[in-house]
Amino acid sequence: MSSFHAVAIPTEVADSVRATMKSPKYGFPAHREVAAGRAPCRHCLQLVKVNQEEAILFTVDAFHGQNVPPSPGPVYIHAKMCARYEGNGEIPETYRGRLLTLEAFGADRKLVTEIRTTNGEEDSAARMLLAKPEVEYIHVRSTEAGCYLFRLERN
Ligand SMILES: [Zn+2]
Repeated sequence: MSSFHAVAIPTEVADSVRATMKSPKYGFPAHREVAAGRAPCRHCLQLVKVNQEEAILFTVDAFHGQNVPPSPGPVYIHAKMCARYEGNGEIPETYRGRLLTLEAFGADRKLVTEIRTTNGEEDSAARMLLAKPEVEYIHVRSTEAGCYLFRLERN
């Protein structure tokens, strides 16, 4: 069984969006508003508090920092500074028991397989996928919204 950690978007990306209100690489305008629904921050991997905290919605490449064809999509971050998530070998608590899609990628961004988790299977699914030698990393997405959440890598 492979142990793993979750990788959030880099702090430089979050800082750049907050400072410029533009999407890195794409230049699309970012949008800032008080969270009205479930808005998971891709930097600290916590939820932006509904009706209390502001979120910034912008476009990010799910393959940020990797030298492969991009896959841009909408994500939220806290409008105010937050601490980047530090992995601890589990799926972050905010996402446990959620409907998640784990996309396992191999060399050159080839999709090896995907698993859609329902209740509480996310850690075992991630370990099972990372036990396959052809899998290099996993993208975790919301099954309902389809949005990119974070990446999983082996420890
Ligand atoms: Zn945050």
